[in-house]
Amino acid sequence: MIDGFGRNIDYLRVSITDRCNFRCLYCMPEEGVPKKDHNDILSFEQMESIIEVLAELGIKKIRVTGGEPLVRKGCVDFIDKISKIKGIEQVCLTTNGFYIDSHKEELKNTRLDLLNISLDSLNEDKFKTITRCGDIKEVLSGIETAREIGVKNIKINAVLMKGINDDEIREFAEFGKEKNVKIRFIEIMPFSICNSYEKYGISADEIIKRYDLIRTPDKDYSNNAETYKFKDGLEVGFIRPISKKFCAACNRVRLTADGKLLLCLHGTAYIDLKDKLGNKEAIKNAILEGIMNKPKEHGIDLGVIQNREMNSIGG
Ligand code: SAM
Ligand code: SF4
Repeated sequence: MIDGFGRNIDYLRVSITDRCNFRCLYCMPEEGVPKKDHNDILSFEQMESIIEVLAELGIKKIRVTGGEPLVRKGCVDFIDKISKIKGIEQVCLTTNGFYIDSHKEELKNTRLDLLNISLDSLNEDKFKTITRCGDIKEVLSGIETAREIGVKNIKINAVLMKGINDDEIREFAEFGKEKNVKIRFIEIMPFSICNSYEKYGISADEIIKRYDLIRTPDKDYSNNAETYKFKDGLEVGFIRPISKKFCAACNRVRLTADGKLLLCLHGTAYIDLKDKLGNKEAIKNAILEGIMNKPKEHGIDLGVIQNREMNSIGG
């Protein structure tokens, strides 16, 4: 599927719930989000029917995300089902890691090509401050479990925050080596309600300079991450939506739990698919027509801020 700027759109992120057991300060309000009416949320069968159409249109890779995807009952079964849809070559999961242990057996028996676990600090107290309620022990145990059950490609994502975790870059690099997982720091992005960008925003450039990091070829760092090395060879990656936007190479769209296909993480353009459920042709035509409205680039630098929170988009 080619958009109006000639980009090949072959990657879908599906947010299966906007609910979460954590309240990360840059993502969710402390009091949580109002519970959506059951009827407003797509069933897994409805999501699968949309994904089948998207796969016919050229989507090859899917990332299941949220909110916290593992809080929705049936998540792993859903992953298993979509991995079998014709045309889907890669299925990934993004999770805060808390429920990996309790899903161990299911995950062991499910194809997962890539697992991203979010972990913003290696310090127990800082971790609690960032997540407002999370227990780092559960997440660290989840990482061990994922390794133990043989998930081959595990990545740790940390949102880079000035004054909070920008002094932990080296510790993370060591952790990555010890656990044989890739570390990627993501520049914090502004969203309308939980806007922590002004307070905690810091450019990857500042970190690269501070630690004298050396750019290295990106090997298999996917998703627009750039790889850097410390002088002794320890590696970290940076995802830089703010300081080096990668919109020209954007290949993704995002399906929300309430049935909207978002065309840009930071824009307002979307295709409403919920009212077309049950009509495959209508879904297909709406996507083919709507994809031409995918914006050329995000406008954070111009002050354009998404009015949905990250917990409903999924990253
Ligand atoms: N709950 C899961 C998790 O935390 O991994 C999946 C959903 S979460 C919204 C997906 C990713 O978005 C996480 O890595 C999270 O750190 C990142 N994220 C959330 N808000 C962000 C923000 N304002 N700026 C940058 N990354 C953000
Ligand atoms: Fe939950 Fe993930 Fe958002 Fe943190 S980043 S509040 S774990 S959805």
